[in-house]
Amino acid sequence: MEDIKCLLIRVYGIVQGVGFRPFVSRIAAKAGILGSVCNKGPYVEIIAQGDDKQLADFLTRLKTQAPERSTILKIETSEIPAKKLHKFEIIKSGREKGEIFVSPDIAICKKCKEELFDKKNRRYLHPFINCTACGPRLTILDSMPYDRERTSMSEFPMCADCHDEYTNPKCRRYHAQPVCCNKCGPRLYIPGSEKEGAEALIFTREVIRGGGIAAIKGIGGFHLCCDAKNAEAVSRLRRLKNRPFKPFAVMLRDMETVRRECKTDGAQEALLDGPQKPIILLERSGRGEICPEVAPGNPKIGVMLPYAPIQLLLFSYPDGKDMTDCFVMTSGNPSGAPICRNDEEAVKELSGMCDVILSNDRKIRLRADDSVMAFFEGRPYMIRRSRGYAPLPVVLPHVNDGSVLAVGGELKNTFCLARGNLLYLSPYIADLADLRSVKALEEATARMERLLEISPQAVACDLHPKYNSTEFAKSLGLPVIQVQHHYAHIASCMAENGFEEEVIGVAFDGTGYGTDGTIWGGEFLKASYSGFERLGSIAPFRQAGGELAVKEGWRVALSLLLNAFGSESAAGEAAEKLGLCDKTAIRTQFAMLKNNINCVTSTSAGRLFDAASAILGIKRRSTFEGEASSALEYAADKNTGYNFEPNISTYMDGRFIIEISGLIKYLAEKAIEGTSKSYLAGAFHSAVAQMVRAGCIKCRELTGINTVALSGGVFQNLLLLEKCVNLLKSDGFYVLTHSLVPPNDGGIALGQAAVALNKL
Ligand code: ZN
Ligand code: ZN
Ligand code: FE
Repeated sequence: MEDIKCLLIRVYGIVQGVGFRPFVSRIAAKAGILGSVCNKGPYVEIIAQGDDKQLADFLTRLKTQAPERSTILKIETSEIPAKKLHKFEIIKSGREKGEIFVSPDIAICKKCKEELFDKKNRRYLHPFINCTACGPRLTILDSMPYDRERTSMSEFPMCADCHDEYTNPKCRRYHAQPVCCNKCGPRLYIPGSEKEGAEALIFTREVIRGGGIAAIKGIGGFHLCCDAKNAEAVSRLRRLKNRPFKPFAVMLRDMETVRRECKTDGAQEALLDGPQKPIILLERSGRGEICPEVAPGNPKIGVMLPYAPIQLLLFSYPDGKDMTDCFVMTSGNPSGAPICRNDEEAVKELSGMCDVILSNDRKIRLRADDSVMAFFEGRPYMIRRSRGYAPLPVVLPHVNDGSVLAVGGELKNTFCLARGNLLYLSPYIADLADLRSVKALEEATARMERLLEISPQAVACDLHPKYNSTEFAKSLGLPVIQVQHHYAHIASCMAENGFEEEVIGVAFDGTGYGTDGTIWGGEFLKASYSGFERLGSIAPFRQAGGELAVKEGWRVALSLLLNAFGSESAAGEAAEKLGLCDKTAIRTQFAMLKNNINCVTSTSAGRLFDAASAILGIKRRSTFEGEASSALEYAADKNTGYNFEPNISTYMDGRFIIEISGLIKYLAEKAIEGTSKSYLAGAFHSAVAQMVRAGCIKCRELTGINTVALSGGVFQNLLLLEKCVNLLKSDGFYVLTHSLVPPNDGGIALGQAAVALNKL
């Protein structure tokens, strides 16, 4: 008995809902260990008793063989007195407070996929098949720890067979919380009709095959789905969704189809087919069969593979009928509102946009849209962080005291709950201009606070007085910490990179409220978590026309031409030759600028890109955010070697100014002369990158700082990003860029949280 020791082991990390306890029980059996394992909320607690050799074997297995989907952040071990033990058991969950790790939802695994189509398997064609390695997690969870009775699966008592698997340590469904089968699981149905189960599914396939539109309840909400090869169906969906040009994402049947439609590399394929299954923006192959209406004028397309069993069944079902291998799969929501998550919302909001609604009775507790990413330098470059990634925390190197809720910005809203050194970004909510989105934000913050057991001491929000997010933050009755928009962008980039020192922050962005009440968005900041200073910006210009100036780049172009050419007559003449707009519009716009009617002062780089797109005749107005500037990116000749000499001459309110008039004049004159659009679009990107370099060199002279963080929505432009990174690196800068946190407003909650935690 002397050489028997007993260890108390605590494992922190993503260890709940990923089959961790069954794994521990299996390795205990292999190592000959007696004791127990238990979910404690913040961690998994193991009592392990055995001799030295057995314990060493057990600990090695624990560290090296953990389930694929788990992430161990820390293991604590202490010795406790040995006990009389006879077995190793899994003990029912207890409750303790501390760091909590909630698993994101996991795409269907290979084994479940095989069983789904195996006639001999008892889960043959079961639309809710899952196991300890796959299935819904965050979206069905009520509270922690993760156990069946605290998920929306509690309404479905397990049948005897499922219960056997659930309690058999040798089974891969041992303690798989959402486990179910055709006998005991949720059911498919069509609301308002008699059709259910297989009949409902077959009918929905029929609708899609016939060129119709179906709303389908998935993991984190409803999608609208139609045949992506059927131009008529896609055009009709555009009309019904009131979305004339914004690209639709597609879901392709398998990797073979992806390779036919797009160019991919190994890293992209691994991610497409991995446990997260995000939408990845891929270049088209040129020999695809998807109709152009899916992403008009766009060289790329957002592609994902099926991740829920129901989606696999929509593609392949033994009803003897063929099915397209390309679906449009776009979020089921009215423009601007959050994705629909229950029948009530779907019937109300989606009925007018589709021919059938295929629902099921497994409730979605928390919405999660599909995540969307590009790729930069072989790594993911997040555009929308949601399903599969939320709510994995960003871990800061230092531990702060206290906890905060950061409510994010107005567009592409996400929020962030933070405690200590863990910052949990929420799934995507929506644009908050829509009050349904504000309600969704309220619900989701309350739910996540409960799940993560964080009661924030303070709330962080944007500086903008009119944002709904600011109003929501102020309504909570907590101390409010307002964080300037572009400072939050830079802090989010620092936090994602675990960077703790001062940086030069380049925030190139659309719209953000500045500390002086003007619109910022082409900023050079000196920033750390404790504060920031505006060292410089692009030259301010006037935006006339309020919201219209954001949608209609030609309006800002006129203002920039006026600055560049110095007189109304010269600018007007250039505008006419460029075909920017008619004479009346020119006169009206100039009058507004001259008399300061509906004008704001702006340094927005986003507007500069819109204006350049308009001047070059690429896109004069946008029907969705970023349309004109992405068209400018796609039009650009990537190899244009334009040498631009940035002019940093004037100081204004204590900051340096990078002139843009020279560049605007050059673009206008060359465009009038007939120089090609693709050359000029390329030259524009080169010039802006050279401005960024010049600004950073100026900042380095002023501060001695050598690290640059690049953030803000404009850095979704990969051509600009690449040019900036290359120039900065060649000048010896250390460059921080985003990867798994978006550079756009979907990331600012993280920056707000990092700054606010520091202030507590
Ligand atoms: Zn599975
Ligand atoms: Zn069952
Ligand atoms: Fe922004």
